[in-house]
This record gives sequence, structure tokens and C-alpha cells, in this order.
Amino acid sequence: MTFEGGEGAGKSTQIRRLAEALRKRGANVVVTREPGGTETAERIRDFLLSGKAIGLGVEGESILFAAARADHVDRVIRPALERGEWVLSDRFFDSTRAYQGSDGVDEKLLAALEHLAVGAVRPNLTIILDLPVEIGLGRATRRRGEGDVADRFERETLDRHEKRRQAFLEIARRDPGRCVVIDASRPEDDVAADIWKAVEVRLLP
Ligand code: C5P
Repeated sequence: MTFEGGEGAGKSTQIRRLAEALRKRGANVVVTREPGGTETAERIRDFLLSGKAIGLGVEGESILFAAARADHVDRVIRPALERGEWVLSDRFFDSTRAYQGSDGVDEKLLAALEHLAVGAVRPNLTIILDLPVEIGLGRATRRRGEGDVADRFERETLDRHEKRRQAFLEIARRDPGRCVVIDASRPEDDVAADIWKAVEVRLLP
């Protein structure tokens, strides 16, 4: 299961809450994130987000995101699924489709990289936390006031954030069997209740 959305959508809070609720029911839950999730992938994350990939270009970045994802799938996600555990990932391939896709990287290249990185490993449910970009960025800015540092991708124009928001909504429109869009501008408890409903309906026995 994956969580997607723009800055300040509340993905990590909601993942924490869902993991807790599932564990209370006795489930084994792995919580992970992208880019990252393994030692190597976390290094690639740091390299990309801290602006060290100078002059690499969006295609080169896409290749690094794919390399990180391949390692994450091989070492963490596939083994956990094979053990019958739940995997909750904060971002997965839809982030690449939305971010690198709306940055103009060729769709065929992205599809090939996606295939290479994930093979047959696909989320059984993707929660897209949707909210107006101004609200999300406002939340992310407040969070930084509490010690979180803005990364390269967060310091971008409203217009680019809006394109990504629309890209996530388009992904959901194209794949309604997998994706559920939830209005994340509402209070945390309401968002959590809707996520739980989606999980109950689609994934719980
Ligand atoms: O939301 P989170 O802090 O995990 O995202 C890390 C950063 O990486 C975000 O700023 C996001 O915009 C960026 N990112 C990206 N392309 C991806 C995945 C994440 O630009 N495929």
C-alpha cells in the first residue's frame, strides 16, 4: 500500500496512524519511504534532495530515483510481501510519474525505469492525499519552523506544485481500481477515518 501527495499533505502522520491501527489488529506492518528505505537508497535521497546532483538533469535524476527504488523493492518491499506483511510506503512510483513526469521526462523512459525498478511489485491500494498547494506549502513551512529543513524539491514555484497535484489526480482518474483520493485539507482525524474506511473496504477480510 502506498501514500502519495504533495508537500504538507500529512502522509507521514497518516501512515503512522494507520500502522498503529493495523498493528492493534495483530498485523505485521513495515513502514518505509521513498526515495529511501534502504541504506543505499537513503544515500541517493540525500544526494538528490540536498542539491548535490549539480547539472545532472531531470533524466539523470530519474535514473537515480529508479536505482534507489530498485534497491528498496529488492531488499525491503518484496521480502516483506513474501513474508505476508503489510508494507506502507510513503511515496512510490506515482511520485516519479507525477514529479519527473511533470518536469518533462519522457513517459516511455519513465515507464521503462519503473518496470526495471519494480517488476511485478505493485501497490494493492494507493491513497492520494490531495489538498490545495498553498495550504500544503503553508504546513510544510510551519514544519520547517519546527526544525525541518527545506529540500531542493520543496523550494519550487506554486505552478510546478500545482502541475504535480494535477498529475496525481490524473493518475487516480486513470487507475480508480488502485487509487483513492482523500481530501487532506480537513482535520487529521477525518482524514484518518477516510483512510481506514478505504482499507476496510478494499483490503481487510
Ligand atoms: O515528501 P517527502 O519529504 O518524502 O519527499 C521528499 C522530496 O523528494 C520531496 O520534496 C519531493 O518533492 C521529492 N521527490 C521528487 N521526486 C520523486 C520523489 C520525491 O522530486 N520521485
